[in-house]
Amino acid sequence: MLVKRIINKIIQQFEVRRIPTKEKVVYLTFDDGPEADTFRFVLDELDKYDYKATFFCRGDRAARSPQHIELLRQRGHAVGNHSHSHPNAFNVPAATYVADIEQADRILHTKLLRPPYGSLTLSTWLQLHKKYRMVYWSLDSEDSKLENFNHQQALDKLKAKTKKGDVVLFHFCQRHEKETRQLLPEYLAWLHKEGFKSKGLRS
Ligand SMILES: [Zn+2]
Repeated sequence: MLVKRIINKIIQQFEVRRIPTKEKVVYLTFDDGPEADTFRFVLDELDKYDYKATFFCRGDRAARSPQHIELLRQRGHAVGNHSHSHPNAFNVPAATYVADIEQADRILHTKLLRPPYGSLTLSTWLQLHKKYRMVYWSLDSEDSKLENFNHQQALDKLKAKTKKGDVVLFHFCQRHEKETRQLLPEYLAWLHKEGFKSKGLRS
């Protein structure tokens, strides 16, 4: 497992984590949805500031509500692939993993890919990296920390660390909804006050 983790760290150096820019812009990203209520909440919050974002969707959830994927695109957001069933590349055979990503691709039709858990093995990376633009993140909102989530700490960290070009990780699923709802409105208000824009990623 240690060797896998080291190889994964090396792979990440070749892929997108921040987008170097002189513009005061961040790239907000949301993982693991779409799930109905959280989805609407996030969209409405972004609309308050005309912020665009990238939604890394699970294929199985998108298949249940294809209208949500359509709506994201209509409203100017980017859609990314976050696998079909959220496997961990460390724990399943490479062929199974790649098939899962491709299953989601047939529903989502996007070249943006965020591997679940930010994990890839050498074999899965070699099979996928030419076809997809892989996007990790440079700043974790910590909305997925469950019982270790501390609202004030997470907000303070975001305010202290946000830089131009950061790819910021949030979620839009029921499992993390409570934390996302606490954190996102205050962070967006702060970004806006500081003069940041948010854009979706290009594939
Ligand atoms: Zn995920």
